[in-house]
Amino acid sequence: MLRLTDIKLPLDHDEQALQAAILSKLNIPKTQLIDFTMFKRGYDARNKKDIKLIYTLDVEVKEQAELLATFENDTSVRVTPDMQYKFVAQAPKELNHRPVVVGLGPCGLFAALILAQMGYRPIVLERGKAVRERTKDTFGFWRKQPLNPESNVQFGEGGAGTFSDGKLYSQVKDRKHYGRKVLHEFVLAGAPDEIMYVSKPHIGTFKLVNMVEKMRKQIIQLGGEIRFSTRVEKLDLSGDTAKFKVKGLHLSNGEYLACKQVILAVGHSARDTFESLYEQGVYVEAKPFSVGFRIEHEQSMIDRCRFGDNAGNPILGAADYKLVHHCKNGRTVYSFCMCPGGTVVAAASEPGRVVTNGMSQYSRHERNANSAIVVGITPEQDYPGHPLAGIKLQRELEALAFTIGGENYHAPAQLIGDFLSGKSSIEMGEVKPSYTPGVTLTDLSKVVPDYVTHAIREAIPAFDRQIKGFAKADGLLTGVETRTSSPICIKRDDDYQSVNVEGLYPAGEGAGYAGGIWSAGIDGIRVAEALALAYDAEFR
Ligand code: FAD
Repeated sequence: MLRLTDIKLPLDHDEQALQAAILSKLNIPKTQLIDFTMFKRGYDARNKKDIKLIYTLDVEVKEQAELLATFENDTSVRVTPDMQYKFVAQAPKELNHRPVVVGLGPCGLFAALILAQMGYRPIVLERGKAVRERTKDTFGFWRKQPLNPESNVQFGEGGAGTFSDGKLYSQVKDRKHYGRKVLHEFVLAGAPDEIMYVSKPHIGTFKLVNMVEKMRKQIIQLGGEIRFSTRVEKLDLSGDTAKFKVKGLHLSNGEYLACKQVILAVGHSARDTFESLYEQGVYVEAKPFSVGFRIEHEQSMIDRCRFGDNAGNPILGAADYKLVHHCKNGRTVYSFCMCPGGTVVAAASEPGRVVTNGMSQYSRHERNANSAIVVGITPEQDYPGHPLAGIKLQRELEALAFTIGGENYHAPAQLIGDFLSGKSSIEMGEVKPSYTPGVTLTDLSKVVPDYVTHAIREAIPAFDRQIKGFAKADGLLTGVETRTSSPICIKRDDDYQSVNVEGLYPAGEGAGYAGGIWSAGIDGIRVAEALALAYDAEFR
């Protein structure tokens, strides 16, 4: 099979055009072509009047070797690499012990699935509820029911990305093609086939709920066990801070679970767990993250700006954007987790705190586009002195947002025009807020540190030069966005185990090794493999 990259065709090309492009590129007659499949499809919309689709195609031809030799100096024609996932180990029939996975977000889900597929029959501990019950609690909170601190947008089966836009891409290096395995498992669990080939795949909220359930069932069928509403409160360790060893876990239901290998995939919001790990002497470091607001515009404006007359074309879908601005004060402001045609969601997991995030359905048909507009902050400059100081800062900002929002989980909000000119908003503009339970118009500079306000005030007009209308006065800002990534890193070694706890595998976003659903899934596969190899070396 040959892989052809960078095949460009007009947006409105007909079905025959792909085959014609292959024959022309390879300079072969139709009779030499056996078959072809699409590996990737992206687009180049830099010229709105001439948007191009860009294909990567896998092509089966007769006399492949001779043909390939004629393309020796052309990197866009190569042999298709083998991207098939291969298991690194197979568990013995009699297990010496069962590995434990803590957290059933994308990282824990893939770690548990791979372990189960290799026969290691993992035990999964998840503090939240199964996804359907969790959906009731989360949507209930958005409809003004009380916040359940153990069952919400951050906690419960499926993890933080369950109620999301379900974007499945990131810039992680993936030399072993684990990302294909993640996508393939998602398709088997019910995701649309197109996630295998579109360049920026997304799934949307409701599809994810069903998929997560199916994947859980597979883990159980393969001998795994899942315990919901079971929070890990404390590790049981032997040894000392120089090198501990995992002996077991103390659980929230009072049980003790003896174990030797634990994958810790608790996500970025498990603040109580981070505190417990730190107090026990597990090595953690503060790491950079970002803070700011959600911004909302009408999706139609973003579509027009990105696609011109082609706005609404079903192949292009709702337009997204990615923006970065380097400020005069040395700060960097960027857009993050952009949700085309989506809604801003209440993402708190602790009482008395307000946090924003974004989600959408697969169709991305809601009226507004939303994205985080955030400022990068670092431990050295902004929260020095303690490994958990970033958590303290997050909590302070979220508590301030709660107070200023009216102490009823309404989020503080401000029109973009008012924010730029430094006055409180008193009346809504054309862009209606999508955040529920509701918003309180105010002056958002009261919610975040001054350097955040100054940096975002400088960035929005700069973004307007790239997306005309971005600084439009009646666009809306809602706050506060604090959970862009984990404020800590639970350091691990090359063997994926904690630098000072043997048998502990910190993983995923909470440990600082992933950002987003796809990369968390990839990290889950990596640690599952490392654990299986260590199991084979030590316990077989
Ligand atoms: P998590 O998904 O956070 O999972 C951790 C799990 O551990 C949780 O289920 C939690 O309940 C459990 N847990 C925590 N502590 C304990 C404990 N002590 N004991 C037992 N269980 C515990 N990313 C994208 O790539 N695309 C998107 O479109 C996207 N949209 C998002 C929208 C929203 C609203 C949110 C909140 C996030 C979004 N993200 C998105 C980010 C993405 O969800 C995360 O990057 C990803 O879920 C991280 O995966 P994880 O498995 O490392 O952690």
